[in-house]
Amino acid sequence: MATFKTPAVVLKTQDLNESDKLVCLFSEKLGKITAVAKGAKKSKSKFLSVTLPFCYCNYVVFRGKNLYNLVEAEVIDSFQVFLNDLNTLTYASYLCELIDISMISEESNRELFKEFITTFYFMKINAVSIELLMRNFEVKLLKLTGFGLNLEHCAICKKKIKSSNYINVEYSGGICNSCSKFGSLKISNASYNSLRFLTKVTTDKIYRLSLSDDILKELYEILSEFICHNYSRKPKSLEFLKNFNDSFI
Ligand SMILES: [Zn+2]
Repeated sequence: MATFKTPAVVLKTQDLNESDKLVCLFSEKLGKITAVAKGAKKSKSKFLSVTLPFCYCNYVVFRGKNLYNLVEAEVIDSFQVFLNDLNTLTYASYLCELIDISMISEESNRELFKEFITTFYFMKINAVSIELLMRNFEVKLLKLTGFGLNLEHCAICKKKIKSSNYINVEYSGGICNSCSKFGSLKISNASYNSLRFLTKVTTDKIYRLSLSDDILKELYEILSEFICHNYSRKPKSLEFLKNFNDSFI
């Protein structure tokens, strides 16, 4: 019997039948996996608390014929504090959805796992603006899944560029003054430079960056284009928050 022990976070769950749950985990060692949590729906189950969304545990799983089965789990941080605030809850769900749409099952990505956990802890301690944290995670996600942005050189002619007002999703980078802007997105210099900073800085240093709401909004729109273009589907988690804010502010 192949048994594995790995730290992982619950991305989402689904009822399998009256008593069992299917748990989608993002794990450090096995990547994204789906495991059956037997009896997890019963009120006295040992799996009840370790199969809640966002829960970060050391899980022991064994590989069955088609799916993994949960054997035991030890909580590292439940992150249930995210449920106290609608904004935080929505953004935490968004992070989980980004992992879900960008990862293929059973492909480990330890660097991305580390970024994901670091971002969760930053959200928990409220150390930096949550919008900045999200934009930073999107940039890191693109890079760590093979779609990193090239903002140092023109994506078409490879000439070195200082800044640009055009960025191209297809070419994954900035476009210089001399090349064709056809099919490229317009971007302000301030946003371009902020994006470049995010491609270079490690997450523990992002508190050094302070961005205006306008820049954060522009970066959100541009990074969304990259995410929709490169991954299996468009994330839906933030749509609710956007509609909510539009109608209440
Ligand atoms: Zn060029």
